[in-house]
Amino acid sequence: MEKMIYFDYAATTPVDENVLRKMIPYFSSEFGNPSSVYDIGKSNKVAINMARKQIADAINCSSEEIYFTSCGSESDNLAIKGIAKANKNRGRHIITSKIEHPAVLETCNRLEKEGFSVTYINVDKDGIINLNELEKAIRRDTILISVMYANNEIGTIQPIDEIGRIARSRNIIFHTDSVQAIGNIKIDVNKSNIDSLSMSAHKFYGPKGMGALYVRKGINFQRQQDGGHQEREKRAGTENVAGIVGMGEAIEIANRELKGHNNNIKYLRDLYIKAIVNRIDDIHINGSLENRLPGNANISFLGIKGAKMVELLNQKGICASSGSACSAGLIKPSSVILNTGASIQVADSALRTTFGKYNTITDVRYLVDSIDEIVKKYR
Ligand code: PLP
Repeated sequence: MEKMIYFDYAATTPVDENVLRKMIPYFSSEFGNPSSVYDIGKSNKVAINMARKQIADAINCSSEEIYFTSCGSESDNLAIKGIAKANKNRGRHIITSKIEHPAVLETCNRLEKEGFSVTYINVDKDGIINLNELEKAIRRDTILISVMYANNEIGTIQPIDEIGRIARSRNIIFHTDSVQAIGNIKIDVNKSNIDSLSMSAHKFYGPKGMGALYVRKGINFQRQQDGGHQEREKRAGTENVAGIVGMGEAIEIANRELKGHNNNIKYLRDLYIKAIVNRIDDIHINGSLENRLPGNANISFLGIKGAKMVELLNQKGICASSGSACSAGLIKPSSVILNTGASIQVADSALRTTFGKYNTITDVRYLVDSIDEIVKKYR
């Protein structure tokens, strides 16, 4: 294919060139094992701890509260299972939302099978959780609240400060999956009373297969992977040093460039929404327009299935995504959008376009023209 225009930055991002440059030596000349005691091992340990500090600084915690993992999913698993299992003597009830990523939902399903009880909170038409429902769901045996910072499909940002306040006032541990938010929103775990937070490097121009978990000092959690003593006994396995160095560099760049980056992608996103609203009838914008990630647009083009639209856009060299999931050979409409109260037709025809730092105005014009053409031809 000659042309490739990428509008799927929520799925993954390319590695920033400066990040890649920092990573390369750790694949070759600096290849030592950080657990080794000779120089090439020790220098790797130093590099890991520098990255740990970069990540801690980005969310306002201390280095010893950061644990490296292999991805966002592992961070969610480690946080939720680890906290639940280590605190089960205090209670076995967990609260989460209905629109979490499968890394959280499936983890909660697993814990239910193991004797924990989980309450799944509803969201409103904008995809925002109901705080009254959250407060009402709290029981004497509630040990953990896990609500995502921002949604991966519709970009809705949850009232994190309020959830943090509620959790803290009731002495409940608060975990948030910030995989989509970090690098797009300034996060301060102390200001927001966040006790545990998951992140993934490939969403902010870092490498894939690299995650981290923040757990507030003093909070007990059980390791989920047994073996060596790495990550202060909380996550066994020889560290992915190049990935860790890349993640540290990527988060530092993302936070430094946050304001300008957000203004740019918000401008492109709004340009796209405005053009679509002006040119195409029978559309539905999914998610909140105010409390939304700057680079996220999710629009249903009624009468055309999201999966079909993605395929047709691909033929024009455009990468975008639908919220549909493929299960047992059947394409199922987005459960996130259905949970906002939208009809099956709306959920079935959703197109997620997520904008990033390498998009241009010309790209957006081409996207809008392409969608317009597809709608005219296939509706
Ligand atoms: N949580 C959210 C909100 C996500 O969007 C994703 C990935 O898309 C994950 C967790 C999982 O992250 P990873 O791909 O690093 O496992």
